[in-house]
Amino acid sequence: MPRGRKVGSSKRIPGVDATCSTCARLLPSLAFRTRTVAGYMYLRSQCKECEKPAINAAIKRWHARNRDQWNAYKRGWASKNRDKTSATYARWFKTHPEYFTTEKYRSNHRNSQERRRARLEGAESTLTQQQWREIVEYFGGRCAYCLAPCSEPTQDHVTPIARGGSHTMDNIVPACSPCNTKKGDKLLARWLSVGIAGGY
Ligand SMILES: [Zn+2]
Ligand SMILES: [Zn+2]
Repeated sequence: MPRGRKVGSSKRIPGVDATCSTCARLLPSLAFRTRTVAGYMYLRSQCKECEKPAINAAIKRWHARNRDQWNAYKRGWASKNRDKTSATYARWFKTHPEYFTTEKYRSNHRNSQERRRARLEGAESTLTQQQWREIVEYFGGRCAYCLAPCSEPTQDHVTPIARGGSHTMDNIVPACSPCNTKKGDKLLARWLSVGIAGGY
């Protein structure tokens, strides 16, 4: 037997009041979600407002479980609706100027610049923000070369783009900006033998 109040019709009856089991307010039926079982409609015992946190949590759990499919769906939709997507972004950025001062923004911005640069040079470019976060986590937030803790590591291409490397998960490590600058376009073996040991 479903929770809730039997309304007695497959159509919603306006004006029927019910008491929310959580906030105890007497509210019109429109303030409740409903479910229909065997032709009968039942109001849920909680009003929509009281149900909200649980519903939001359930949505969050679903997205966490289905992250890859969901991201793929979003990317597909965005590429088919470029105008809408950029308008939405523009609106959001306008109302959230503080976003531009966050570490997340700087990290995203760096990655998109790197991706663009890699594409321009004809390199394969597939690193996602999620992958980059995983790489940074894997190195424990340290520079992969000098092992110094690094709060905002740069993306270093183990095989430089200029030497045929790709902007992909298997070719990127976090590096502090001094190490990244000093390594430059040197290949890893040369940088390790001449760079670190030879005082750059
Ligand atoms: Zn309520
Ligand atoms: Zn370093």
